[in-house]
Amino acid sequence: MSTYATTNPATGRTEREFPSIADTQVDTVIGRSAAAFDSWRSVSPDERAAALRRTADIYAERSDELAVAITTEMGKPRAESVAEVELAASIYRWYADHGPDLLADETLDPQGAEESIVQTAPIGPLVGVMPWNYPYYQVARFVAPNLMAGNTIILKHASICAASSALMADALHDAGVPGDAYINVYASSDQVADMIADPRVRGVSLTGSEKAGSAVAEVAARNLKKAVLELGGSDPFIVLDTDDVASVARTAATARLSNTGQACNSPKRFIVASEHYDQFVDAVVAEFESVTIGDPAADDTDLGPLSSVEARDTVIDQVRGAVEQGATLHTGGTAIEGDGAFMRPAVLTGITAEMDVYGEEVFGPVAMIYRAESVDDAVRLANDVDFGLSGSVWSPDLDRARAVADRLEVGMAYVNEHGTTLPGLPFGGVKRSGFGRELGRWGMGEFVNAKLRRTA
Ligand code: NDP
Repeated sequence: MSTYATTNPATGRTEREFPSIADTQVDTVIGRSAAAFDSWRSVSPDERAAALRRTADIYAERSDELAVAITTEMGKPRAESVAEVELAASIYRWYADHGPDLLADETLDPQGAEESIVQTAPIGPLVGVMPWNYPYYQVARFVAPNLMAGNTIILKHASICAASSALMADALHDAGVPGDAYINVYASSDQVADMIADPRVRGVSLTGSEKAGSAVAEVAARNLKKAVLELGGSDPFIVLDTDDVASVARTAATARLSNTGQACNSPKRFIVASEHYDQFVDAVVAEFESVTIGDPAADDTDLGPLSSVEARDTVIDQVRGAVEQGATLHTGGTAIEGDGAFMRPAVLTGITAEMDVYGEEVFGPVAMIYRAESVDDAVRLANDVDFGLSGSVWSPDLDRARAVADRLEVGMAYVNEHGTTLPGLPFGGVKRSGFGRELGRWGMGEFVNAKLRRTA
């Protein structure tokens, strides 16, 4: 059973605990969500859009309170917390602006009949299982398009995000989303499985680990429910050529250390053309050694703690294991003494396919740098993992870079940037990074009934 609590990863102190729901409440929660679906689906798209727009406004008004909550519960540096609140608000606003058009009927060639149209209809109550790394953004990606479409939501957030998940529910309800159209639950994995299995629930979306994804997808498949999974990644950042290694290395280091390295689409593997490799390694090491590590609530902090001591120790174990298997550690990779979940960011090189870390996701501030002997070698390394979330290619020669981007087995390929996420752009991966898409029109297409109406 999950224990819902706020434990500040900067201090190790548990500041608040939250009661979980009882097994007997699962049925009630589903019943409320199903009843709310009957009315929410009948609310006009413009009115649903208005509730999302008000949600965005409330996020802006409550930005400080929302930001403090996630900095406290998962350790995100304050400026990044504020930016995340703004990003989440922009997603609600985007669906408010575009949702009614995306839901409009599509007229097809009637092919001899009076009419053939496709309607976009909601399908019912959905369960969302969300992770702690971007507490507001991850939820917004799932919730905004689905509330817009007329579905209702039962949201099970990570057990360390009990405080922020309650604030999200307050914001949505204060914005006019009916209480039962969005229900925040403190539920265990077993209770989530019972919800997915219930005939009234029509689908599930999970962002998180492969382990959680396969557990949830298994229950969904057994019960013939659709699942969208946004899982891990080990994204390549390919430096093909550059006039300014220091600048690319600075960008690389900043991207890797953002959110203390805990992002599914963080560039985790740097694949660098041989002629730039040595200078790139030195520059990333220098960047990592110059960051200010400390209290995520302080304005001058670059790098906060990881989400928990356990999460920090997992990353340190991965680094230690790589070194034991023969990799070279250039800097960092050790815990910072004290009660918090802090560590020194690490740079690893000399990783080979035989080492465990080669194919693993390292969910923390660790750069794995590879030397590429040729363009083909870079592409081979990039694609030689089971993940396929995103990847980036860096070169002033755009045609050359785009040709490499087109060879990446990923859901999102970038040229001269990494990991940009905007409300209108699709987000998702291939291979073991999951399936389905979030955001933009794609995110609104996952849990709807593309319903044909044809009149002879
Ligand atoms: P989890 O995948 O365990 O947690 C994500 C969400 O899934 C949480 O709400 C969690 O609940 C829930 N969950 C876990 N197991 C189940 C289950 N069997 N049934 C239903 N819900 C479940 O991530 P962790 O926090 O344990 O992180 C472990 C690793 O996962 C990371 O190191 C990273 O590799 C990856 N990860 C990837 C993320 C991404 O953005 N793609 C985000 C977070 C993690 P609860 O908190 O109550 O356990």
